[in-house]
Amino acid sequence: MVHTPPSRPFTVGLTGGIGSGKSAAADLFVTHGASLVDTDAIAHALTAAGGAAMPAIRTQFGDAIIAADGSLDRAAMRAHVFARDEARQQLEAILHPMIRDESARQCAAARGSYVILAVPLLIESGSYRSRCDRICVVDCPPELQVARVRSRSGLEEAQIRTIMAAQASRGQRLAAADDIIDNSGSLEHLRLQVAALHARYASLAARPPG
Ligand code: ADP
Repeated sequence: MVHTPPSRPFTVGLTGGIGSGKSAAADLFVTHGASLVDTDAIAHALTAAGGAAMPAIRTQFGDAIIAADGSLDRAAMRAHVFARDEARQQLEAILHPMIRDESARQCAAARGSYVILAVPLLIESGSYRSRCDRICVVDCPPELQVARVRSRSGLEEAQIRTIMAAQASRGQRLAAADDIIDNSGSLEHLRLQVAALHARYASLAARPPG
């Protein structure tokens, strides 16, 4: 018997710089019936108490980066990998393959009319790009990213700018986009754009392949 692998659902890669509004846009797509596969949420689950990545992380880095409840102590881990490229690479070598596998599993199991695959560093990653039928970039001016992240998390502007500098540039993201959501306006403006894109994605997803 010939085994046919499960066909991948129509997949929209959703990305954008920190604070651009990816999560806000993703939540709106879900209200229209899209399935959301969120690599940040997967990373979080893998490093929660009892998470599948925790045994390998404990073996690699020791008990000092494990919180009392058994989850990853994020502050301790950040301090440990800060300015230690090798440690960062070791952590990524544990987490990245697990995130790739789990996100592929969730995409294949998704039951929505199409999948929104939310990946902060999508543009930087060939393996995620190759899984997407379209790339949708949430865009806003850098000053707004800083203001939104500050009010969301209380991070200092310098810390936010450091994170932004490590991500693809605004120009690189826009050049890779099939669709661009302009999130420089109100949440209502965002909602209208997501509604229009949802209609497009639902119709593309319903088209027979080929
Ligand atoms: P990301 O997931 O890209 O880091 P978020 O979706 O978390 O960004 O948005 C960053 C912050 O800005 C959140 O607090 C969110 O509620 C807020 N936000 C997003 N879009 C808008 C908007 N159009 N108007 C006002 N606040 C917004």
